[in-house]
Amino acid sequence: MKFVSIVIPVYNESSNIGSLYERLSDAMGDRYAWEVLFVNDGSTDSTLGEIRRLQSHDGRVRLLSFTRNFGHQPAQYAGIMHARGEAVITMDGDMQDPPHLLPRFLEQWEKGFPLVYGRRKERRKDGFRKRITAKLYYWLLAKASRTDVHGQVGDFRLMDQKVVEHLRKMPSEAAYLRGIIAWTGFKHCFIEYERPSRASGKTKYSYSRMLHLALDGLMGFASLPLKLGLILGVGSIASGTGFLAYIIYDSLANEVMYPLYKWLIVVILMFMGLLFILLWILSEYICRIYRKQHSRPLYIIDETKSDKDH
Ligand code: UDP
Ligand code: MG
Repeated sequence: MKFVSIVIPVYNESSNIGSLYERLSDAMGDRYAWEVLFVNDGSTDSTLGEIRRLQSHDGRVRLLSFTRNFGHQPAQYAGIMHARGEAVITMDGDMQDPPHLLPRFLEQWEKGFPLVYGRRKERRKDGFRKRITAKLYYWLLAKASRTDVHGQVGDFRLMDQKVVEHLRKMPSEAAYLRGIIAWTGFKHCFIEYERPSRASGKTKYSYSRMLHLALDGLMGFASLPLKLGLILGVGSIASGTGFLAYIIYDSLANEVMYPLYKWLIVVILMFMGLLFILLWILSEYICRIYRKQHSRPLYIIDETKSDKDH
């Protein structure tokens, strides 16, 4: 029988844990051996007690507890590190990722997809602002990076063991899991679902946390911001040179006297351009240092499409 792990980061979700567990066990049934691994991210309510209560009568419930609140992404990563399953499913603890869909994820996994993503149909339940910012963000991320991070895809996903093994080797990438998982490039498919509102309690993602996550995504995966210095520099120097050529021509051919400040503007434009280009060179060096110290490999081999003994 295949073994499946379900990883659930929880932060003050005491009101959801009981019913989540019920629904999970109903959905999983007995087709698979499974474990549910709760990662208690420094909850201050009775979340820990609730999980312990479940553990007292079900040995499949496992618990990792952080010393304090470290955040959703590190909690997910910790769960992934400690999961023992041949497939690892990550989901939220507020029932926004409906447990009854789990058999459909597993079905796709059995069909040979190493990655199965839950994709929400429309963010109708979210506010207008969140919908617009999410659209804009994923558009920007897609434009600015070569990694295909899918919009409308959150942290509800199934990963085969082989994907998980790669993730385990890249702890420094834990800040933006959906990015690095997309980056691995494994064959994937989507399960479309209507995302309900959270069952109870309130969201743990403040605007500043969301901004942090968004920045982690952009900084980790987009190379366009890095090129900004180059673009501005070349633009500034080009326009400075253009102006300079024009006023030299105008003052020689038509004997127009240009006031000093106009010459100064030209000089400033060209110097600014030079500075921008120097900044760009600096940022390219910093980027290389950054790449060296994070653990992303150069490539990943698809075993299913390569020779057995490469
Ligand atoms: N969560 C966590 N640590 C945090 C914030 C959130 O473990 O610092 C958990 C939370 O308990 C939930 C999941 O991450 O299970 C998603 O959080 P939430 O539902 O608040 O986010 P939203 O759905 O509003 O984006
Ligand atoms: Mg939620």
